[in-house]
Amino acid sequence: MVDNRPLGLYVHIPFCNKKCDYCDFVSFSMNEQSQAEYLTALCNEIDLIKHNYDDVTFDTLYLGGGTPSILLPDFITKLTEKLYSSFHFADYLEYTMEINPMSFTRSKFLEYVKCGINRLSVGVQCLNESVLKKVGRIQTNKSVVDTFKLINQSAFLNVSADIMIGLPGQSSDDVKRTLTFLIDNDVKHISIYTLQVEEGTKLHENIKNHKVKPLSDKAQVKQYNQIYETLSQAGFIRYELSNYCVPGYESYHNQKYWNDTQYLGIGVAAHSYIEGYRYNNVTDYSKYISLCKEGKSPVASKEYITDKTRRTERIMLSLRTIHGLNLEKFKADFNEDLLRSKAEQIKQLTSLGMIVIENGYLKIAKDKFNVSNSIILELI
Ligand code: SF4
Repeated sequence: MVDNRPLGLYVHIPFCNKKCDYCDFVSFSMNEQSQAEYLTALCNEIDLIKHNYDDVTFDTLYLGGGTPSILLPDFITKLTEKLYSSFHFADYLEYTMEINPMSFTRSKFLEYVKCGINRLSVGVQCLNESVLKKVGRIQTNKSVVDTFKLINQSAFLNVSADIMIGLPGQSSDDVKRTLTFLIDNDVKHISIYTLQVEEGTKLHENIKNHKVKPLSDKAQVKQYNQIYETLSQAGFIRYELSNYCVPGYESYHNQKYWNDTQYLGIGVAAHSYIEGYRYNNVTDYSKYISLCKEGKSPVASKEYITDKTRRTERIMLSLRTIHGLNLEKFKADFNEDLLRSKAEQIKQLTSLGMIVIENGYLKIAKDKFNVSNSIILELI
């Protein structure tokens, strides 16, 4: 491996009890048989590729989906054993699992802890059931409350929550109630997702047919600013445009996506970024199962990431983070002194208080993240 930093490992679990109306992820309903079949396929994929990673250390492991928590605990145990016996993991491994409050139980939780899972990412979204219902997400407030009761009883330390804004009918009070609940429950990390209405989803249809009224852009911006103000007051830092944490609780895994670190993705529709190439596994579930059964690679496409693309991504992704862009490293990697090539833009943005340059890093000013897109465009 050219880059010898530890890698991240992602495993995609494609099952959900019911498809949310806004979802365009690869997710399907399942039964016990499909669980067994998928576990076998994952193990086959691991066997096929593990020899490529003999000299590599992984320091993050992430089970995402889909809804990994709907799986039988035995699935997680067997998968974890397979991963632990096939790859080399750092002692300080960050092992995250996404959970949905509707499928979280005490016995599952105990099994997760036994497996070494030390970070939970809870899909809270919004503590207003009728708002969630409008976008086809069936989730009760009680399930969220019970989930946190269970987690807090065990003094489990590293808990993240996903919340959504821009939902039809979602009010500032809904956002406030959700944030207050998370702060009171000692959540250390919060990721913000703005509702995206993708073509081909049921929500897109419902909006087109006037069955659901989207939230106005103005209300969305208000919620976005409300989150910044509330979480800043509660001691959170916005370490990435859409991610907040109590200092020291940044997600190591997510940071790999933002700082050009290699990662391996396993499972249907998983992506990898290894030695300059991006690999995409097949998105067709049956095809994934049959390829793995036959001992064939499930990779559907492979694309070399050119320096031009890497340069653009480096600027875009680094400027979304609190650390900003390392100018020396940028110069070394792309043979370009940004202070010269973008001298005019940098001068103007600095005079407007949009960006700052500190200790060799170019950063977006803390209070200007809400206009980051236009700043980034100037600097690309
Ligand atoms: S739970 Fe997540 S992955 Fe599953 S359908 Fe809903 S949005 Fe999609």
